Amino acid sequence: MSKSSILDYTKDELSKIIKPSFRAKQLYEWVYKKYVNSFDEMKNLPLELREELKNNYNLIPLKSAYIEKSKDGSKKYLFMLEDGKTVESVLLPMKKEKYDDDGNLIHQTRYTICISSQVGCKIGCSFCLTGKSGFLRNLTPGEITSQVLMIKKDNNIAENRRVNIVFMGMGEPLDNLENVKKAVEIFSDPLGLAISPRRQTISTSGLSSQIKKLGEMNLGVLLAISLHAVDDELREQLMPINKAYNIESIINAVKEFPVDARKRVMFEYLVIKDLNDDIKSAKKLVKLLHGIKAKVNLIFFNPHEGSEYKRPEVKDVLGFQDYLIKHGVLCTIRESKGLDISAACGQLKDRKGK
Ligand code: SF4
Repeated sequence: MSKSSILDYTKDELSKIIKPSFRAKQLYEWVYKKYVNSFDEMKNLPLELREELKNNYNLIPLKSAYIEKSKDGSKKYLFMLEDGKTVESVLLPMKKEKYDDDGNLIHQTRYTICISSQVGCKIGCSFCLTGKSGFLRNLTPGEITSQVLMIKKDNNIAENRRVNIVFMGMGEPLDNLENVKKAVEIFSDPLGLAISPRRQTISTSGLSSQIKKLGEMNLGVLLAISLHAVDDELREQLMPINKAYNIESIINAVKEFPVDARKRVMFEYLVIKDLNDDIKSAKKLVKLLHGIKAKVNLIFFNPHEGSEYKRPEVKDVLGFQDYLIKHGVLCTIRESKGLDISAACGQLKDRKGK
């Protein structure tokens, strides 16, 4: 049986495994601040402890298997896990470096890292390649956090640089809630990756009962709902999970979710030509979101091979956005980054992975 990764443990858990407990803090520093690749490099840990760790645990539980780089700077990673299965993550530079006239740096590039929480997925959304290949297994906390660690290392992103995390890659994070919770804790730990929970977004297909549980955990993370449709009939066609958790149940769960005073719940809306791109749908959406501190993110559907859906017209997406804004709903249109690479979830794995 393969060894578990030492990255599966929060700092508190580690301090119970490694004695004396301050060694756990040292180990955390080596991993998350100094980006080491082996226990041997942890020079301030006694040799005996390093040997013990080597014998009982792995360090980084995944390795980079393939990288695709887009012209717009986004990079898609295919990672191979210890058991040979693969998952995808994406690095998205959100804003470019900016300098003033004297050549001084005004702001640094901001990054968002989109990570996977499962190998495959049970939800089976009709527009998603990952959903089509079924579910294989949950990722461990270490397999989740390592995606960010590896991407930061690969791009020389300094340990103190802020990054945003979105649980929006392969899998339904709320279907792997305990491991996702632990990953959030490791990300948030000042001695870990020190990423504030307010910079971590959990995106769900709308498992209402799990949204409630996540809310009760009070982790301080942001919530994003993949809504995509405003009536149950179309949503069932796009996302069969809607039969178990309909739109009303999702909206009710969101209304109870604790939202930071400065933040909003994000509603992702994949715009598909002739299906949900009309003003009637925009009108229904405004009604649905009444009373919620919401922000809508319109996403152009990006057709993949064999897909039955089409990319919407720009004018229809703009018209949809305009209607929402005029009726008091914050709304952005997501830039389709990485159009020249396999940017939609599951596309790279479909071509290269297992
Ligand atoms: S879109 Fe997300 S929830 Fe739906 S099948 Fe794909 S990975 Fe699963």
